[in-house]
Amino acid sequence: MAVPKKATSVSRKGKRRAGQHHKLYRKFPTLCSNCGTLTLPHKMCASCGVYKGNEIIELKNDDENTEETEA
Ligand SMILES: [Zn+2]
Repeated sequence: MAVPKKATSVSRKGKRRAGQHHKLYRKFPTLCSNCGTLTLPHKMCASCGVYKGNEIIELKNDDENTEETEA
């Protein structure tokens, strides 16, 4: 059924479009294929530095960092 043009207010229209935007660009974590921790989609894994199976950066272990700070 057709809806009169003035029945849809500006704020109602804005809320509807914002809902579509939030649905499109919502962020929900996915599991890393390499280490299994929660990461954001289309982002490099922060714990192992792997994206799409390729190692982007080499992350140092925590033990090595503590040894460097002590020495
Ligand atoms: Zn990972």
